[in-house]
Amino acid sequence: MAKTRKLKFKAEVNKLLDILVHSLYTNREIFLRELISNASDALDKLRFETTRGTEVVDSDLSLEIDISVDKEAKKITIRDTGIGMDEDEIIANLGTVAKSGTEAFLKMLSENADAGKNESAASIIGKFGVGFYSVFMVAEKVVVTSRSYHKDAAPVRWISSGSGTFSVEYPEESIQRGTTIEIELRENAAEYADPDKIKNIIKKHSNFVAFPIKVDGEKVNTVRALWREPKFKIKKEEYEEFYKFLTHDYQEPLDTLHVSIDAPVQFNALIFFPKQIFDMFGTLREDRGLDLYVNGVLIQHKNKDLIPEYLAFCKGLVESPDIPLNISRETLQENRVIQKISSALVKQVLNHLSKMAKDDKEKYDAFWKEHGKVFKFGYTDYANQEKFAELLRFNSSAMENGDALTSLAEYTERMKEGQKEIYYLTGASREAIESDPHLELFRRKGIEVLYLYEPVDEFALSGLGKYKDHELKAVEQADVSALDEVKGEEKETPQAEALSDSDEKIFKKLLERMKDILGDRVTEVRESKRLHDSASCLVNPDGSMTSHMHKMMQMMNKDLTPPSKVMEVNKDHPLTRNLLKIYKNDPRDPFIEETTEQMYEAALLLEGYLTDPHRLVNRMNKMLEQSSGWHPAVK
Ligand code: ADP
Ligand code: MG
Repeated sequence: MAKTRKLKFKAEVNKLLDILVHSLYTNREIFLRELISNASDALDKLRFETTRGTEVVDSDLSLEIDISVDKEAKKITIRDTGIGMDEDEIIANLGTVAKSGTEAFLKMLSENADAGKNESAASIIGKFGVGFYSVFMVAEKVVVTSRSYHKDAAPVRWISSGSGTFSVEYPEESIQRGTTIEIELRENAAEYADPDKIKNIIKKHSNFVAFPIKVDGEKVNTVRALWREPKFKIKKEEYEEFYKFLTHDYQEPLDTLHVSIDAPVQFNALIFFPKQIFDMFGTLREDRGLDLYVNGVLIQHKNKDLIPEYLAFCKGLVESPDIPLNISRETLQENRVIQKISSALVKQVLNHLSKMAKDDKEKYDAFWKEHGKVFKFGYTDYANQEKFAELLRFNSSAMENGDALTSLAEYTERMKEGQKEIYYLTGASREAIESDPHLELFRRKGIEVLYLYEPVDEFALSGLGKYKDHELKAVEQADVSALDEVKGEEKETPQAEALSDSDEKIFKKLLERMKDILGDRVTEVRESKRLHDSASCLVNPDGSMTSHMHKMMQMMNKDLTPPSKVMEVNKDHPLTRNLLKIYKNDPRDPFIEETTEQMYEAALLLEGYLTDPHRLVNRMNKMLEQSSGWHPAVK
């Protein structure tokens, strides 16, 4: 044997190994799934190379995975005839973790493992897929011997017991193309040195691997390309099993879409909607995509061009004979056929969702609650805006609680006579929205308002602009005079006594005085037609963006000055009436100034613009102190 190189694992590998070896004892069997899936990937890559005409060594080897189990020696050997690795590759691949989200994953894993939450740590592993290193959950020592498919590549051997280092050697005997992994099991994992147990694990996790898996010479999996079979031949359980195989999800999918299209391009697709999306490492968008096959050959895992970001929750695969096999991964992106498949597929998915919404409301609601957040970004898909709009769901003032949902179509059915626009209001919660002064007029008239809780909601609605003939409008931008034409069931409310003509004039003066006090901070101070319960509120000058939009822009620009708005004052409010008296007595009375400031800052606070509440609180405390003097017990 020639020289041996001793190398250190990268820090993240050590962290991972430490957790795998010392903390986790449940669900250890997934090590086999991970090794088989690597072998299957290696075979897929080999097949891809040969079909595009690359010369490979040992070209007559059949593509398969062979497992042998030695009960006595407590050893498992897994051999594949795949693409193999050369020295550089084996050091890079089995010495680091090159996967996005690894850091977040390790953090979550160690927290759960430390807390002794083995079950959840194991399920985190299942979802993330720790790959090769999971073998050290059961192995005392692992020997990987590999021969790359390249003609002039020398075989290489990698040996490690999973504690800090690995060594690399150069075997002198002749070695076939592919990779062999020899596992010496730990004493406490000796149970895996059992062919029946191994077969069961393969059936459970790896049944749909596209290459034969043999255990001691006997084939155990059902190599089936489910997506090519006619739908009526496939049982629900088979779809579910396939889904679990594909995604490592432990739950069944929420729904399955299996399509076979002939024009304008020919393709089969098998798409699943998961019950739950696992974006715990923030990698959903990056991690999205569908596996792409051409004539049984896997061309690319998770091709992102097949499915737009807003449908990132779709899992599955596409197979098309219309894509040239010798295509390089780099040119896939510009490939017209891919684009055509993608646009046909998007239509299929949207139609499927529409059908679900119609036939099975409960399922659609479940879909919406889980995937709506991502789906709403579809407002930029101009080609499908109409369909997209029909699929949107919101909570609204007509709903009984914060969980109920309405579509835009249902909203329009409930519209009042004379109502032309669809109204919405954004806020952090149902409670926050319902205490917003802007809602008062709508509530009084019984006009329904959509409640928007997420930043993307308003982008989606203002992006759409219209639903059918109805403009989508933020409540704060509603034209109050247009609302006069709406035949609402105006609620009977006690009316304040009308002001005399001369008091009307003084009221106008009072408004001018308030504008003087506030200066450029407001564009105008005017009488409100919308308020009933509140004394004042801020509204947008015509045509400017809503407060919510404005705040989003501010976050992006890191500029915190509140926008200059119109302050509206409720003429009938007791506070206004008192101010009127004070003004009549002395227009310069400091109380008017303090109250105006207070009304303005309170409105800013409600709209989420007040960055420094000190003055507001001081003023409030002073006013409380004064008014407590009026308490009967004090007087
Ligand atoms: P992943 O499969 O997610 O990339 P793994 O930890 O499972 O992560 O594997 C790391 C890398 O090691 C693989 O991407 C592959 O390049 C290489 N590898 C692992 N097993 C094999 C194998 N049997 N044949 C060839 N390459 C392999
Ligand atoms: Mg892997």
